[in-house]
Amino acid sequence: MQKDQLFTRRRMLLAGAAALGSAGTAGLVLAGGGEETARPVVAPAAAGPPARRALAPSTFRLQPLTGYGPPRTPPRRLKVREEPILQISGSGRRMVLTFDDGPNPAYTPHILDTLARYRVRAMFFVCGECVVENRELLARMADEGHVVGNHTWTHPLLTTLRRKEIRSEMERTSDVIEDTYGERPQWFRAPYGAWNRAAFQLGADMGMEPMAWTVDTTDWMEPGTDTIIDQVEEGAAPGVVVLSHDAGGDRSQTVRALREWLPHLIDSGYHLTVPSRRV
Ligand code: ZN
Repeated sequence: MQKDQLFTRRRMLLAGAAALGSAGTAGLVLAGGGEETARPVVAPAAAGPPARRALAPSTFRLQPLTGYGPPRTPPRRLKVREEPILQISGSGRRMVLTFDDGPNPAYTPHILDTLARYRVRAMFFVCGECVVENRELLARMADEGHVVGNHTWTHPLLTTLRRKEIRSEMERTSDVIEDTYGERPQWFRAPYGAWNRAAFQLGADMGMEPMAWTVDTTDWMEPGTDTIIDQVEEGAAPGVVVLSHDAGGDRSQTVRALREWLPHLIDSGYHLTVPSRRV
């Protein structure tokens, strides 16, 4: 896949997304502590600097796709958070679906097929070392309107690494995402949900917001398809961010469960969306 073809497809996608307007996105809520103490800390309007779309179609056409044009704008440094984002704000029954650790050719295409069947956009927190083996899956995510986030290169426990090692894990991954997906990620997620101050600071330096989750499907434990379905359906609520995995083990239960619980949520009136930062 040629890079300029990727960008062309991405540009078409963005044009389509712009036509959708704000109906397909939602704001953010920071929450502290566990679910029992979840509370709004930052209102959407205060969650960051004014919205900006680096690759908005109108401005993108003014920039060269390849060659020796002006360098890309470096990522803006964001406010350094002390906690990750745990859920989204906004009115209505909105939820965000996230899939970690991929892409993986055995499972990710099936998940993408199910999302496409129900016209649902989701977030994929990918590992750089998986991306280089499966670049076409990142291109497909771009084509189909999904949001790709940074989940480090090798999925280490960041709290055991030196700052420069964390930086390398995150930077390399953002670079390969930009190269395959068409734009740098605006979100990152620490492996195992193990955050530290360096990770928050480096993420902010690279223009990424830290996103955790509200409901863990526990699919990483391979507990059985029915258990995964129950976890999602019992945890469903407005603003919830759902954690699933499309790699890192046998994810056939995840694939089967999604085919069941996704239409159930839609039938219950939930709108599955992606966050609105810079959109
Ligand atoms: Zn992970």
